[in-house]
Formats: sequence, structure tokens, C-alpha cells
Amino acid sequence: MENFIVSARKYRPDTFQTVVGQASITSTLKNAIKNRQLAHAYLFCGPRGVGKTTCARIFAKTINCQNLTAEVEPCNECESCQAFNSNRSYNIHELDAASNNSVDDIRNLTDQVRIPPQIGHYSIYIIDEVHMLSQAAFNAFLKTLEEPPKHAIFILATTEKHKIIPTILSRCQIFDFNRIKVSDIAGHLGYVAKSEAVEIESEALNVVAQKADGAMRDALSIFDQIVSFSGKSITYKDVISNLNVLDYDYYFRLIDLFLKNDIPGSLMLFNEILDHGFDGHHFISGLSTHIRDLLVCKDPITVQLLEVGGEIKEKYKTQAVACEQEFLFGALGISNECDMQYKASQNKRLLIELNLIKMAQLTLKKK
Ligand SMILES: [Zn+2]
Repeated sequence: MENFIVSARKYRPDTFQTVVGQASITSTLKNAIKNRQLAHAYLFCGPRGVGKTTCARIFAKTINCQNLTAEVEPCNECESCQAFNSNRSYNIHELDAASNNSVDDIRNLTDQVRIPPQIGHYSIYIIDEVHMLSQAAFNAFLKTLEEPPKHAIFILATTEKHKIIPTILSRCQIFDFNRIKVSDIAGHLGYVAKSEAVEIESEALNVVAQKADGAMRDALSIFDQIVSFSGKSITYKDVISNLNVLDYDYYFRLIDLFLKNDIPGSLMLFNEILDHGFDGHHFISGLSTHIRDLLVCKDPITVQLLEVGGEIKEKYKTQAVACEQEFLFGALGISNECDMQYKASQNKRLLIELNLIKMAQLTLKKK
């Protein structure tokens, strides 16, 4: 494979501004630096792949930058920044608690805490997956956290906030990282694609972003996988076949058939989907999502809950206009019920067909 890119590493943000989808957190961190109101301990919580460790590293670098920019960003040029960027800084210490969770590991770290930094003002200790520390390690760490030396700053990161004991929580400033929005992920992927001279349809970007479920790291690795498979010109069709995603066009067509009370057409379309090798359960849960998306389009307040971008958004809006709210409520109830019954059903195909028939009759009663 020629010039295979690992985009997650290559496009790892190195300034606050380049962090995607966490604007409120990065601006709070910048303000803390600007106003010199640094806490001794931070806890970054949130799902995997949303930028916790990345933000911790940028924060650490910025705190020690000798030549902050006007926007409170690291200069990436001073001695301290360069040491950070080439992973040779003595001011940053990282511990992955998932694989180093013993008392000895923590003692090694806390022993270093006493030593003041040689360059810069602060030594930063990042402990990733901090919930993995053993009970004894937690206790050993607590002592340091209770009386940290002036120059020490701890940034703890976890995907499981509920596992952190209250004595630690109460000593940390807590930041909750959110899943990154589909539109933000798609936007960033578009930027990466452009930088790599990859041509990719916007609908394709959207599918990748949705598949990543809020995690930028996953989005970038899916993107790499598709580039290595399809090359530098990527269509929506390439992506859905590569990721085994059901074309949303099927759902649009199905809803149109329901509105026309076309039972044979609905059953034939379902047959076509099965013929393409898609699983029935996958189909029915996708249909529920589709109806839900139409429903949120009906109201200007909930339309922001629609997690698709660009041209597809317009398709949703158009179809939503064609659907009565009552029909959507009914169809969502039926497909959700079908989704729940699916596992227990002896004849799964019949179960889905029966429910498709029900949905196709919803608007019949009114006529
Ligand atoms: Zn600097």
C-alpha cells in the first residue's frame, strides 16, 4: 500500500483551535491559562475518542509555552513547545493506568512530583484511564493529590466517571467531553480529505461520521480504511458497500410506499434489502431511526436533533413535510415494537413483513 496514512496520528490537533467539537471546554481551559487561574487537578470525562488526551496534551503544552500567542495558543516554536512536540519534554509525564495500575506505578509517578521543572513553571501529570487504578494505587495517589507541590498539575482522564471515588472527584475541576456532532466530524473529515488530495462525496463523509458515533479517532480510522480500499476518489456508494451500511435511500423509498399504502411494493423492497445481504434487525432499527429523524424535522425546536448534514438534511425535510405527525408516531411505535420482538421471534422475516403491512395501512384509515 503506497503512502498509507494514519490520519488519527497525522491530524492530531496541536493547538486548542484545531480541536474539533469541544469549543466550550477549550475556551474554558484557555481562560484559565490567560487569567492564571490554574487548578492543581483536572478530571476529563467522556466517551472514547473525543479528544480528552489530546486536550490534556495541548493544555500541558500551552501552560508551559514561553511565548503564548494573543489567542492563548501555544507558539509551537519556543524551547518548551518544541520539546513537547518532539516528545522529549521533562515537563509532561503520562501514565496509562489501564496497563500501569499498581501502587508501584503510582509511587514512581508521585516520586517525580516533588522535583520542580527545569524549564517552564509547571510539571504536568496526565493519568489516562484513571478509573483503572487499583484501590491501593488510588489511596497512594490521594495523598499527593491532597498536598500537591506548587509546580504540579494533574490531568486525569476517564471514560467512566462513576468509578472515580468522591474524594478524588471533590479535588478536581471536572470537564465533561461530549460525543462530537456528526456535522463537526464530517467537516473535519472533509478537511483531512482535502489535505490528502482525496476526493470524497459529502454524503459519503456523512456516512463515515455517523458510523463513528461521536468519536473522531474512529472516524479517521474508518476514513483511512476506505481510502486504502477505494483510493483517492470516493463515492457514497463506495462507502456504504465498504461499511456495509444500508443505503438510506431505501428508507426514503419505503416511507413513500407507506404513504401510498403500497403493501406489495413495501414487501418487495424489503425482499430486495434481504437479497443484498442485510440483516433484518439492522434494517428495522435503521427504519426506526429514519422515522425518528423525520419526526424531529417536523418541529423547528427539535430539528437540531437531526444529526445529518448537507444535502441529505433537505431530503429529510422534504419527506417530513409529506408525512402527517400522526402517521410518524404510529409508524415509530410499530417499528420500535418490531425491534423489541425481533430477537424472540421464531419467524423473523414474517414479523417484519407483518409490521411493514401495518405501517403501509396507517394512512388508510383516514381516507
Ligand atoms: Zn511555545
